[in-house]
Amino acid sequence: MTDVWMEACPFCRIVRGQTDTRILYQDDLVTAFPDIRPIAPLHFLIVPNVHLESVNAVEAGHEAALGRMFTVARRLAETYHVTQSGYRLIVNTGPHAGQSVFHLHMHFIAGRHMPFRA
Ligand code: AMP
Ligand code: ZN
Repeated sequence: MTDVWMEACPFCRIVRGQTDTRILYQDDLVTAFPDIRPIAPLHFLIVPNVHLESVNAVEAGHEAALGRMFTVARRLAETYHVTQSGYRLIVNTGPHAGQSVFHLHMHFIAGRHMPFRA
């Protein structure tokens, strides 16, 4: 990815602290923040700090960040008390999945029953 694209990428801007987005969690590898158009009472996004367009760009060197995304999902579940009630983690990739932001992200969705099943 070029620097030009990363300048424009909304999630890179959030990672760099260049927006007023409320950061729920951030460390050296990942950042979590609320989805701007939530579809459930709890709807967060967890992203790698490095710009990856989608799962299609994932390589072995990214495994630490990708693994950390799951650890942060578990922490968010504990923080928001949905460990028992449950939550859904979604990673949309490409047109058929409806990916609309091309910086890899994991949706953390909770707080309601989700009738649609994969
Ligand atoms: P996807 O369809 O999987 O690419 O999901 C992209 C998600 O990013 C959507 O749920 C949007 O509501 C969300 N989104 C887009 N721009 C922002 C933003 N600036 N801050 C937070 N969430 C955003
Ligand atoms: Zn980005």
